[in-house]
Amino acid sequence: MALTNRKSAQIKPSETLAVKARANELKAKGKTIVDLSTGEPDIDTPEHIKEAANKALREGKTKYTPVQGIPELREAIAQKLTGENGIATEAKQVIVTNGGKQALYSLFDVTLEPGDEVVILAPYWVSYPVMVEMAGGKPVIISGDPKAGYRVSPAQLKAALTPRTRFVVLNSPSNPTGLGYSAAEQKALGEVIAPTGALVVSDEVYEKVTFGGFEFVSFEKACPALKGRVVTVNALSKTYSMTGWRVGYAAGPFEIIDAMIRHQSQSTSGINSISQYAAVAALKGPHDFIATMNQNFSRRIEMALQELLKAPGLALHCKPQGAFYLFIDFVGLRGATTNPAVANSTAFTNYLLDSSGVAAVPGSAFGDDGAFRISVAASDAAVEAGAKGIRTAVEQLLG
Ligand code: PLP
Repeated sequence: MALTNRKSAQIKPSETLAVKARANELKAKGKTIVDLSTGEPDIDTPEHIKEAANKALREGKTKYTPVQGIPELREAIAQKLTGENGIATEAKQVIVTNGGKQALYSLFDVTLEPGDEVVILAPYWVSYPVMVEMAGGKPVIISGDPKAGYRVSPAQLKAALTPRTRFVVLNSPSNPTGLGYSAAEQKALGEVIAPTGALVVSDEVYEKVTFGGFEFVSFEKACPALKGRVVTVNALSKTYSMTGWRVGYAAGPFEIIDAMIRHQSQSTSGINSISQYAAVAALKGPHDFIATMNQNFSRRIEMALQELLKAPGLALHCKPQGAFYLFIDFVGLRGATTNPAVANSTAFTNYLLDSSGVAAVPGSAFGDDGAFRISVAASDAAVEAGAKGIRTAVEQLLG
């Protein structure tokens, strides 16, 4: 008799963690590894946020918290959404979750009926399709055209919508490409969705990690036609370098948030108490460190591209407008060599790791098997060494 169920068999292991495991194995054998696989800022959580956590600890804020989040934090999030993002939100429309990840998982689990379709724009963040499947839904993937910087057009989106479409998942700026949709582009996508019965999840975890003049606008503000049909998901993880604190949130129609609260009440309860007090301080500010962090990402992107774009066969289709990744296409190498290393993205990233010690994430994790992702949330030296290592590995491959 099988010890696990069919649902568990659907859960694919995280490819990001697999890369890490291989990199650590090689490190243990004494190989120098440049790790560009990580999806988190390289700076520490700012001091004023850590101090708020220390204070909460000293004051004994160590007990269960309300399932939906402490009132101060829900209020701070509602005020942020209303004032800063232009999404009129009451505290009762907010749930605080264990990172943005749990907000998304819980959302799909309380909304999808078996076979409901969820439209996901590729390249996508790794977990969307798996989460949808775990909740009994059916991911419907539409791939953005690399020649259009991976932008999905309203016509493409329209063609993917059916009476079974329950959600469209949007993520701007995007992990892994850094693609940012302007307010007008979001509005155009929203107008295609408006006549259907579909809802939208707008994953805005990189809202403040932007550069190159990109102006972030929340989807619900950009598309008033969809008011009341949007769930905005966000987290403090990336903006405040708080990945380990596990604070995320969802805001949207009360009926959905209420179901998510009941879901959370029977699965995890309220999130870590200390993290919530730290999150209140984070949202209050100061926020000046974010500009410095973004300047560093932007500079490292330029540094990395200077090397990578000299390598024959590598191409960048989207100059990132946000997040801290580069998504590089290696399909051009296939015409130049028959080496099995270029057959798919796992073979290619394994080759990079073995030959030059650079850990990158295969594009297959994001729905594109002809690309790989590197993170620039590493030191300048690591980004420079990593990009040089990739270029050398490619040149060696071509002899
Ligand atoms: N959404 C996107 C696009 C992400 O890149 C991530 C993390 O990598 C998440 C959600 C989840 O964030 P968290 O660490 O807050 O769970």
